[in-house]
Amino acid sequence: MMMNELVEKIEKYSNEVLVGAARYYDQVEEFPEEQVKKLFDLGFFQSLYAESNTHYQHYLSNLRLVSHHFPALASIMLTQESHALYPFTKFGTSEQQARYLPELLLGNQFGSFALNEEHSGSDITEMLTVAEKVAGGWQLTGEKQYISNAPVASLFLIAARVINRGQEDTYGVFIVKQGAKGFEVGKPEDKMGIRALPVANIKMTNVFVSEDEVLGGCLNGEEQVNAILNRNRLAVTAQAIGISEGAMKRALGYVSRKRNIGKRLIDLQNTQFKLAEIETKLYADNALLNQVVTTHQDDDRFIAMAKLSASNHAIDITETIISLVGGYGYMKNNDIERLIRDAKITAIYGSSSNRLRKIIAEPWTAC
Ligand SMILES: Cc1cc2nc3c(=O)[nH]c(=O)nc-3n(C[C@H](O)[C@H](O)[C@H](O)COP(=O)(O)OP(=O)(O)OC[C@H]3O[C@@H](n4cnc5c(N)ncnc54)[C@H](O)[C@@H]3O)c2cc1C
Repeated sequence: MMMNELVEKIEKYSNEVLVGAARYYDQVEEFPEEQVKKLFDLGFFQSLYAESNTHYQHYLSNLRLVSHHFPALASIMLTQESHALYPFTKFGTSEQQARYLPELLLGNQFGSFALNEEHSGSDITEMLTVAEKVAGGWQLTGEKQYISNAPVASLFLIAARVINRGQEDTYGVFIVKQGAKGFEVGKPEDKMGIRALPVANIKMTNVFVSEDEVLGGCLNGEEQVNAILNRNRLAVTAQAIGISEGAMKRALGYVSRKRNIGKRLIDLQNTQFKLAEIETKLYADNALLNQVVTTHQDDDRFIAMAKLSASNHAIDITETIISLVGGYGYMKNNDIERLIRDAKITAIYGSSSNRLRKIIAEPWTAC
C-alpha cells in the first residue's frame, strides 16, 4: 500500500467513525481499545521505520487527522511512538530491539516513558529518582508523575539519576517491566481533557534492572531524554494543528448555515475576518512543522518554536471559535467544548510553553 493511501484510509476512518467514539470515551474516560486496535490494524506505524523521511511526515499527517475528531486517541498513538518505538529504534541495542520492537509495532504491547516527577518537570537535572549500582545491574527508587499510557503499558522506560559517589551525577534510561518487584502503577488520573488517554503515577522501591536492560547498553540519559522529548514535541505539534483544524471545520459548518434573516454568519465581515486569521495561523503552523521536519529535525530550538506556536494557536483558535458559534459550541454533542479542553494539554506535556521559551532564549543567555 502506498503511504498516501494510508493517510486517506486514516482520514476516512477518522471522519466516519472516530467522531462518535471520541464523544463516548470523553464521557466514560476509558481506554478506547477497539479504535486503538483499528489504527494498528490499518498500519499506523507499519512503514514509519522504513528508510524514508516522507513516512514520518505521513505519520504526522495521520496524527493531525485523528486529532480532528479524537485528540486523545492521537495522544495514545503518539505516546506509543515517541515514548517507546522511537527510543528503542534510535538507542536500543540490537537485542533490545529484537526483544521489544515487534510487539510494540503491532500494538500487542504498550510502552511508557517516565521522566516527570512531583517536584520536577521535564528538566532531567531536577529528577530525584535514583539508580544505584548493585551486583548484576541497577536498583531504581523514586516516584514518577502523570505518565501517559502507564495503566495499559507492560514496558516502561524510566529516566533516573545515576549516583556516582564523589563524581558528578550522570543519567540513564532503564527498561522496567510491569510486574517487576517493587514497581507499582497508581490509579488512572481524572483529567480535564484528552480523557481517553490513560495516565497514572509510578512508584519504584528498590526495583532491580539487569545490566542488559539499560537503554542502549550505556548511561547516555541526557542525549536519550532530549531526543525523546523532541520527538514527542513534533508529534504534539501535529496534534495541536489537528485540534485547531477540527474546530475550524466545525465552525465553517455552523457559520455556513442559513439563518432566519436569510443571511449566514459567514456573510458577516467579522466572521470572515476571524476565520481568515485562523486559516493563516494554520497555514503558518503546518508550514513551520513541515520545514522543521525537513531541515531541522534535531534542532531543539526550532522544534520548541513549532510546538510553542501550534499549541498557543490551538488554545486561541478553539477559544475564538466558541465565541463565533455561540451556544452551539457550548453543547457537548457538537465537540467544540471538548476540543477546547483537549487543546490545553498541548501547551503542557512534552514540556510546558515556558520551558520551550527558555530553550528558544538559550543562545541569548549563554555567557
Ligand atoms: C496528561 C499528561 C500526560 C503526561 N505524560 C507524561 C509522560 O508520558 N511522561 C512524562 O515524563 N511526563 C508526562 N507528563 C508530565 C508533563 O510532561 C509535565 O507536566 C510537563 O512537562 C510540565 O512540566 P514542566 O517542567 O514544563 O513544568 P513544571 O516543572 O511542572 O512547572 C510548572 C510550571 O512552572 C513553570 N516553570 C517551571 N520551570 C520553569 C523554568 N525552568 N523556566 C520557566 N518556567 C518554568 C512553567 O510555566 C510550568 O508550566 C504528562 C502530563 C500530563 C498533564
